[in-house]
Amino acid sequence: MKMKKVTEPKICRNPRCRKELPPDHPRKDCNDKCKTTYFNDKAKEEKKSRFSYERVLKDNEKFVKRFYDNAYFRKVGVAEEALVGEGINLEVFLNQEHHKERHTGIIWYGCYGLELPKVEGRNYMPVQRSLDRVPKYKGGRYV
Ligand SMILES: [Zn+2]
Repeated sequence: MKMKKVTEPKICRNPRCRKELPPDHPRKDCNDKCKTTYFNDKAKEEKKSRFSYERVLKDNEKFVKRFYDNAYFRKVGVAEEALVGEGINLEVFLNQEHHKERHTGIIWYGCYGLELPKVEGRNYMPVQRSLDRVPKYKGGRYV
């Protein structure tokens, strides 16, 4: 019995086209128009996700600042539920730092950060740093 090779149909990469291409078609799209649409859409998508990342980061910084500005929270810290309840997205931060003396981690949202609790379930401590220690945003990433 002869085995027939099953091949996935080749489809144009332009999501607005998705036309089936002949198997021997030398390119990933129908033509230059489809190619341009594909790359334009991709760039737009990347810009959109970068914008929302910056938006969330800015909001996080604002929320952490609010806790830092409160002497009570600066002393006792903030429970994770309170942070999440405030609207902080703990996954979106600028950078992380290891505190050499205290052996803790700090996650930074711009000028304000949260020192991670050493013991799970403990409070996060709001901390601040000077602007010159905030990484600069250059060419789509932080340096
Ligand atoms: Zn196409």
